[in-house]
Order: sequence, then C-alpha cells, then structure tokens
Amino acid sequence: MSKHDYSDVLSALRKLVGDQHVVTDPSELQVLGCDWTKIFTVDPLAAVFPATTGEVSAVLKFCHKNHICVVPSGGRTGLAGGAVAGNKEIVLSLKRMAKIEAVDCVGLTIQCEAGATTQAVQEAALAAGLFFALDLAAKGSSHIGGNIATNAGGLKLIRYGGMREQVMGLEVVLPDGTILDMNYRLRKNNTGYDLKQLFIGSEGTLGVVTRATLRLMPKPRNVQVACLGVNSFTDILGILTRCNQEGVAITAFEFFTDIAHGIVLKHAQGARTPFQERMPFYVILEVEEGPGQASGVMESLLEKIFAEGICVDAVIAQNSTQFKELWSLRENITESLSAHGHVRKNDISLPIDQLDSFIAELEAEIVRSPKDIEIVLFGHIGDGNLHINYVGPNSSDKKDFQLKSRQVEERIFALLPKYKGSVSAEHGIGLLKKKDLKFSRSEVEIKFMRALKNMVDPDGIMNPGKIFE
Ligand SMILES: Cc1cc2nc3c(=O)[nH]c(=O)nc-3n(C[C@H](O)[C@H](O)[C@H](O)COP(=O)(O)OP(=O)(O)OC[C@H]3O[C@@H](n4cnc5c(N)ncnc54)[C@H](O)[C@@H]3O)c2cc1C
Repeated sequence: MSKHDYSDVLSALRKLVGDQHVVTDPSELQVLGCDWTKIFTVDPLAAVFPATTGEVSAVLKFCHKNHICVVPSGGRTGLAGGAVAGNKEIVLSLKRMAKIEAVDCVGLTIQCEAGATTQAVQEAALAAGLFFALDLAAKGSSHIGGNIATNAGGLKLIRYGGMREQVMGLEVVLPDGTILDMNYRLRKNNTGYDLKQLFIGSEGTLGVVTRATLRLMPKPRNVQVACLGVNSFTDILGILTRCNQEGVAITAFEFFTDIAHGIVLKHAQGARTPFQERMPFYVILEVEEGPGQASGVMESLLEKIFAEGICVDAVIAQNSTQFKELWSLRENITESLSAHGHVRKNDISLPIDQLDSFIAELEAEIVRSPKDIEIVLFGHIGDGNLHINYVGPNSSDKKDFQLKSRQVEERIFALLPKYKGSVSAEHGIGLLKKKDLKFSRSEVEIKFMRALKNMVDPDGIMNPGKIFE
C-alpha cells in the first residue's frame, strides 16, 4: 500500500471512530503495537479506539473490504506476542469499551464490555458481595477480552477453573464485521454447537470479543495462606497429595525455587523472606475453610505435612498484611525477572503425576545449558503448569541471549511429546511459540484448526501470523 493509500485509510478510520481516536504518533504506536514480550518488530499503521460494538463492526467491515489486517489489543500484558502489530496492521484497542453493565446477584453473573480490566470486574463483584474467580498478577492492566482471547489460567484455576469456565455468554465481531451475539446468561443450553468456545483461547485470530457475561460465585469464606519451605520437588507433590487426601478446599497451590525467591528479594520493593533459613523450593498454599469445618484447617493440615517429613518450615499469614506479603513473593516474580535481565519465558504443562520425572530430565538440561543463562522455575504447580524462565544478564547481547536460550528451550520442548505435555499451559501461542505448536498438537489437529480459521477469516485479516503462518 502506498503512502497515499495510507492517508485514505486513516481518514476513513477517523470518520468511523472520531479523529482523536485514531493514533498515528510513531512513539505511541511502538507501545500500542506491542505486548509484554517486547522482542518482536513493532510497526502498526495506526491504533484505533472504537467506543461501541457498532464502531468495531464498522472498522472491521472497512478493513475486510480493503484487505487491511487487524490486531485486536487488550491490556497488552500477553506473554506470547499475540497483540503485536509488526506489518502495518491496524491495532484495534478495546480500551474505551470498559463498562461494567450489570451484576445479577440472583443468577450470579456479571456483564461487561471487553475492555474492562480483570481487576475492575473483581471489584464490581466484591462491591455486590460476590466473587469473580479469575485472578492473575497482571489483573490491574489485563482486559476481560484479552483474558478470554488467551483463555487465561491464573492463580485460582485449581479451584475455580480458568477463563473458559467463567464465560457464560459472548458477543463477538467477526472479521467481515458481522456481529455474532452469543451473550446468553443461561447455565444450561444444549442447542447445537457451543460456538462461544471457539473464540475462547483463539488469540484474536477469529474475531474481536466486544462483550461478555461471566460467572460469579459467593465469596470464599475464611481463606488462609501459608508459605512452605521444601527440600525437594518430590516433596511438593507429596504435599499436594496430602492436601487432596485430607479433603481440603485448595484455592491456590503455587511454587517457586529459591533462585526465583532471591530475584524477588532483590528487585521487589519491600519484599522480605519469611524464613530464617532459605530452602531450595517454596509453596504458596491457600485453602478455604469450608462450611461445617472447624477453624484452623491450615494448622491441622500443616501438622500432618510436617509429620510426613515433607516440609522443612512453614509460615501462616496471621493478618491481611501478612496475607498480601506472602502472596507478593509469588506475584512479584514476573516483574522482578524483567528487572533482573533479559528473559525468555516458557509456560509448559504436564500431567501432574509426571512432573517429577520431567523435572529430573529438566535438571539434566539445566546442567548442560550455557553458564551465563540462569534457569528460574515457578508456576501454578497444582495445575501441572510450570513456568520455565531463561534469564541472562542485561550486559549480555540481547540477540545472542535469545539464540542461546532458544537452543535450550528446543531441547526442553522436545521432551514434552512423550509426556503428552503442552508448550503453552495458559499464555497461548502468538508469534512466540508457533514453531513449537508441533510439539503439542498433531498434524491432524493443526489441519483442523487451519480449516476453522479459513472458514471464519478466509482473507486472513484477523491477527495474521499468530498461532500459524
Ligand atoms: C505480571 C504478569 C503476570 C501474568 N500472570 C498470568 C497468569 O497467572 N495466568 C495467565 O494465564 N496469564 C498471565 N499473564 C499473561 C497475560 O496477563 C494474560 O495472557 C492476559 O489474559 C492477557 O490479557 P490482555 O488484555 O493483556 O491481552 P493482550 O496482551 O492485549 O492480548 C492477548 C491476546 O488476546 C488478543 N485480544 C486481546 N483483546 C481481545 C479482544 N477483545 N478480542 C479478541 N482478541 C483479543 C490479542 O490479539 C492477543 O492475541 C501474566 C502477564 C504478566 C505481565
């Protein structure tokens, strides 16, 4: 497209959403055309900010007719290069569509526009005396539309499921501008294919999510949190088994290594270790005292865990300040890693009972990896979700670091098929992992996915190059 054509496109978009809602300033576009990965070329034509589903539809109709590619964008906290525009696409941001529209305390639902942040939805639910279960450290910035498009997992999946389990209804605008209204509030609806599921986790490649109805629940009662210091990874699985067998309602079961802990202590403001002595592994265990249970569920659970000799030390939060302090040791890891050096992130998942054997193989790979790359492990281990982070010093060359860490990553991904594991538990494929889809999905599955994409978006204008070429 020539410069002349670009100016025609921009004036048409300005007519559709208003002059001030089309951004073309190059430095603003560098931010708006990029997610948290910050390793891909960023070169959008413009960013547009529609205010209604009708405007989203009009923008897509125009882009479809003129073969202009579109990258849907939420809070840009994605970790897979999904919201990256590197080839003169239009970034379509849902930022102006952030209304919380209705909270239904009888049917336990909340309806919102897709640009509402995760935290705004959590807060609206709490204000009505209810609870929205998706929780992640990026909640202040991530949008509900982004959470849906990535099928976000988060910290409470072990108890409440991920984003897929929270979505009851959706409104989506298809690549040709057609509005597909599936925004039902029905708990039961067996009337043919459940089309909304197609769009959950589709990373903006099939359409733009504009509105959603999400499931709420009663607030959890008396939630307790503890941080446990553990000597071996096998003991972590022993602790999880004990929790399961005690019939405890686990609301979170997270883990991190001492290397991750050290990085948080160095970079997160006010962070301090709750232990006298450091240990190789830590677990953040959160449990809910269920109806009819005596208080002190956590204490009696920990007594049993100590009796088995699978935990060295443990600290239970005694008040809300300590509750936040313990959680911040886990929640601050991603940001502290970014402050620490160059980072390449993996987000793999395995059957939980296979984690032990996998970790043994992983340790052998860690020993073989270049000495200037630190491998930092943490994750939602109660869901079988392990975040493997390769961290290189800021003083090293960024490209060289990416190349070297990619070599280690490929060897680690190659271990996954025998466990029927996944290269992405929750972050998605985006640009970052499309070469690696083959480690987790069969040729037949990939062919089927491509056929679906071709049916919904035959001209390939929606988020091109993400998931597949
Ligand atoms: C500190 C930190 C912690 C994190 N923790 C977790 C975690 O625990 N669990 C987890 O799952 N993820 C986590 N993430 C990753 C990220 O927050 C999630 O993937 C989140 O769901 C992305 O939402 P977003 O609005 O920022 O999406 P973006 O990054 O803007 O976009 C992500 C993808 O969704 C598409 N998209 C965005 N909005 C729409 C829309 N309205 N319609 C269609 N497609 C759309 C984009 O095109 C892109 O492909 C974390 C990230 C950070 C930085």
